[in-house]
Amino acid sequence: MPERKETVLVTGGAGFLGSHLCEALLANGHSVICVDSFLTGSRENVRNFADHPDFQIIQHDICEPLQLDRKFDRIFNLACAASPPHYQADPIHTMQTCVTGTLNLLMLAEEQGARFVQASTSEVYGDPDVHPQREDYVGHVNPTGPRACYDEGKRAAEALCFDFLRAERADVRVARIFNTYGPRMHPNDGRVVSNLVVQALNHDPLTIYGDGSQTRSFCYVADLVDGLMRLMDVDATPDGPVNLGNPGEFTMGELAHLVLEMTQSPSPLRYMPLPVDDPKRRRPNIERANALLRWQPKTQLREGLARTIDYFRTTLQAQQPSARP
Ligand code: NAD
Ligand code: UDP
Repeated sequence: MPERKETVLVTGGAGFLGSHLCEALLANGHSVICVDSFLTGSRENVRNFADHPDFQIIQHDICEPLQLDRKFDRIFNLACAASPPHYQADPIHTMQTCVTGTLNLLMLAEEQGARFVQASTSEVYGDPDVHPQREDYVGHVNPTGPRACYDEGKRAAEALCFDFLRAERADVRVARIFNTYGPRMHPNDGRVVSNLVVQALNHDPLTIYGDGSQTRSFCYVADLVDGLMRLMDVDATPDGPVNLGNPGEFTMGELAHLVLEMTQSPSPLRYMPLPVDDPKRRRPNIERANALLRWQPKTQLREGLARTIDYFRTTLQAQQPSARP
């Protein structure tokens, strides 16, 4: 049992990261209320623990004010589509989710005296001209491009969070999450790890956008969830955002070759146009997380990818029982 059993609201709790977070909170003895519109998440993601007596799931869009008849102590705000094709499908709703949704939840945190953790993103750095990215780098974001609904939405959400903190209206913490991967990513999520692994397992061509020289730093989901919980638990509120990510940096070409090697797939590579405003490189400086939270990721890419490949192999087999083993 934890020192104190908390009641924790997790928005976006039926999504990829949120479902792992709900599961870890329940395992730590807390009570969890999951709020999700099922835009990109699903009940399938919470199936393992849906019947847990301390788990409740509520279908709700955070753009609308949330009225609950339960008291709670903590809020993790993870609700927002995170994959470019999904957040760009309805960009105005993405911006509303980030701004109106976050404001609704901050007001709820104030009302209930609940501690608040916001899932922000490395996308606030845009296409960075400082590398690796430290939290004091203010970013290089195009405010009018197709990624702006998400990048600028998350930047506006951070502004709201720090205004609530400065005004002492709520105890708010902001995590800047870098690319995270692992089991429960949706096969059609559209992000690079799920795309490449699913393509390799299906023996389809692996899609590389651009020439594959752009870099990302990939964090395994269990490490990321550990970082989020530490950020919530730490007594002293950090006076700024905290990067959470794995500093191991890979080109998309390197990632594709690693996936081919680990799946033993005969798939060829297919080069496709680079999306507009696609950042050229991305790597977190995690000194602040290390100092404030005693956090650093433990899982190397090869190890995390092995678990992710196993997950997708099982998922794809269940979808097509007669397909390739
Ligand atoms: P996801 O798409 O799997 O999960 C998002 C969840 O939010 C889904 O369950 C979706 O149905 C729900 N949702 C979306 N809009 C909503 C709304 N208006 N009201 C209620 N629910 C809504 O994505 P994820 O990877 O789990 O990301 C979770 C959070 O972490 C997001 O806020 C994202 O911006 C942030 N983040 C993720 C990554 C990553 O690499 N996974 C990186 C940076 C930031
Ligand atoms: N990408 C790719 N092939 C894919 C999907 C994505 O080469 O099938 C590239 C994409 O252009 C980007 C990187 O991989 O440079 C990471 O993309 P993702 O959508 O996973 O995350 P984000 O762009 O938000 O960092």
